[in-house]
Amino acid sequence: MKISIQGLEDERFYRQLQLIANLFFEESQIFSMQAEADLLIKFHLHVEETVQVSAELVDNVEKTYRAEYQKELVPSDSEKEFFKQIKNAVSHVYLTVLQDWTGIKQKWGILTGVRPTKLLHRKVQEGIPTEIAHQQLKDDYLITDEKILLMQQIVDRQLTVVPDLYTLQKEVSIYIGIPFCPTKCAYCTFPAYAINGRQGSVDSFLGGLHYEMRKIGSWLKEKGIRITTVYYGGGTPTSITAEEMDMLYDEMYTSFPDVENIREITVEAGRPDTITPEKLVVLKKWNIDRISINPQSYTQETLKAIGRHHTVSETIDKFHLARSMGMNNINMDLIIGLPGEGTTEFKHSLAETEKLMPESLTVHTLSFKRASEMTKNKEKYKVADRGEVEKMMELAKDWTVSHGYVPYYLYRQKNILGNLENVGYSLPNQESIYNIMIMEEQQTIIGLGCGAASKFIDPDSGKITHFANPKDPKTYNESFEAYTEDKIKILDELFT
Ligand code: SF4
Repeated sequence: MKISIQGLEDERFYRQLQLIANLFFEESQIFSMQAEADLLIKFHLHVEETVQVSAELVDNVEKTYRAEYQKELVPSDSEKEFFKQIKNAVSHVYLTVLQDWTGIKQKWGILTGVRPTKLLHRKVQEGIPTEIAHQQLKDDYLITDEKILLMQQIVDRQLTVVPDLYTLQKEVSIYIGIPFCPTKCAYCTFPAYAINGRQGSVDSFLGGLHYEMRKIGSWLKEKGIRITTVYYGGGTPTSITAEEMDMLYDEMYTSFPDVENIREITVEAGRPDTITPEKLVVLKKWNIDRISINPQSYTQETLKAIGRHHTVSETIDKFHLARSMGMNNINMDLIIGLPGEGTTEFKHSLAETEKLMPESLTVHTLSFKRASEMTKNKEKYKVADRGEVEKMMELAKDWTVSHGYVPYYLYRQKNILGNLENVGYSLPNQESIYNIMIMEEQQTIIGLGCGAASKFIDPDSGKITHFANPKDPKTYNESFEAYTEDKIKILDELFT
């Protein structure tokens, strides 16, 4: 779809207009000339104390759709924040004419960001009464009642699980990235390297990781800063050996402050083919609270198609094994819209989940990330259409309600099928606190290891600084000392 835009001089509008167009069309192109466009959208924008904007969409059979909007502007010290209000107003009319033309209703309205619940948290923190906050979300962002209700449910749940969520800025959480997996899945863009034949690289990587844990741990001890949660992700943190895991957790207990009082330690054991009785003994020994065993789908052909070299029965067996060895908080991930899957396969996955009843179930919607094998060879993978994806999402919602699960976090991604979301459901009081921390951005998360992204949040201003460790083990091994120093410098400035 080629969309020609008129009447908007400022280049800064264009990225948002492109993101919104992507919600409607598989391929779209936005430009500011009239030649050869499928759609022409003319804007009239007037900014004073209020922003007044209108949009007129003309298609190639000369059919016309119009929308108007006006909103009082709130003065702001930040030019960026001020401009955002104008951008939102422009998005408002743009979305409206596109919705009218396509007949597609965008349930998240003009929102294109990853963390919609943050918006509602901000309103709660500002003391805005619930009804008014909901009305604002509807009027300003065109979010539907259904999604506002979901946001409210999640915010309420998060504040029940972490009542001090808004005052945890003086603590930190830790993310530890282990970049190895048995094989690489087709949709994956995580730092994940097939582990076989790489022992040399694993050894050097773990050497670097132990170093980072010691340095950051001693900084935290020196400053008297507590750790709220620790999360081992990757890759697959259980793809290393039981002895290597044992040494790593030993390091955590030695180097990190007050580990006994960390609220939650999670280890993703995502790939069932990495789980062994020896590794479960190690997880238990070090009191790991929560693990993830991820089926993604219970249809064997699907697993094969996406490059996960394990069987469905292996997932089920490893779940039972983990349970029998005392793991009592297990998360399982399902993905909606995997290649070749529709409602039949998804219903089957839910029926299998019912037999296991994990403490939490995270339902992802497939996203075509730019760097994945699947996106590079899109024509090879047949995926469900928008309507079917929505149906599967509904099935997940109904299933979780009828089985006693509650939604407790959500995030959206770009290029997600049907413009839907990923939702974490949990049996009450089994929610992952780390997931809440990472989504709501209320405290600093220090990333250690390969591909680990740190997010430093100024405890006073809330300003966020991102910092990424290198993704590939080779670069990490050559530079982990410098990266650790850089992080400590940033931490020194934030926590004086
Ligand atoms: S198991 Fe997870 S991290 Fe590993 S390759 Fe598959 S999707 Fe990527």
